[in-house]
Amino acid sequence: MRRALQMEDNMARKKIIAGNWKMNMTPTEAVALVNELKPLVGNDDVDVVFCVPAIDIIPVAEAVKGTNIKVGAENMYYEEKGAYTGEISPNMLKDAGVAYVIIGHSERREYFKETDEIVNKKVLKALEHGITPILCCGESLTQREQGITIDWVRQQIKIAFQNVTADQAKTVVIAYEPIWAIGTGKVATTEQAQEVCAAIRVCIGEIYDEATAAAIRIQYGGSVSGASAPELFAQADIDGGLVGGASLKPDFGKIVNYNK
Ligand code: PEP
Repeated sequence: MRRALQMEDNMARKKIIAGNWKMNMTPTEAVALVNELKPLVGNDDVDVVFCVPAIDIIPVAEAVKGTNIKVGAENMYYEEKGAYTGEISPNMLKDAGVAYVIIGHSERREYFKETDEIVNKKVLKALEHGITPILCCGESLTQREQGITIDWVRQQIKIAFQNVTADQAKTVVIAYEPIWAIGTGKVATTEQAQEVCAAIRVCIGEIYDEATAAAIRIQYGGSVSGASAPELFAQADIDGGLVGGASLKPDFGKIVNYNK
């Protein structure tokens, strides 16, 4: 019965597949890539997002006009404006046509020292401006080996959602990304990915309620490819993927069309 309900919820949630281009593609290259991928990523069953470097947002937004592709940013600052040299505000993103923003990617946590508290401020600010956060969480290999994966991820989620209302939380996309699987070619097994995504959903249910847990979309990220996507996305609590390396290649079309 519980499993039947889970599958019903799973069907009700539209899958979301987002590419994370990271620090790749000049504006000229970005437009060429969009033009190459555009015909490959049509799938009405899926929300398709290209999260691109800040300098590529405007040309990419122009290049995707009239298609099903939405534009996302890879980062955002949590202040409105002012003396924050080098940072980009939610207003700037919104005005440039951004609908989604990746927040708390493990590379930003590691190289740019983003803490859970900073992540929380960014989530709140993005929501305030009507930009959907793609909130990243996930454990290191050491943490997995220590058996603390679920505790760690639960902690990240609890802090990231502080002061976020249930109605807001329903719109957030969570990306579970085991750090050891990012850019390594090492995909988590479907069981590992499903186990943590299910635990995240339970955690959301504890913070809010069943309805919020059932509504929120949870992606898996970590070396997803056209070959691994169908089995991963068939799991009860996995609602799509955040895709790095493969989002720069025609394989992204296969990932988006995982169900065809
Ligand atoms: C990512 O950058 O979020 C990611 C999952 O990368 P990759 O697909 O290359 O592992």
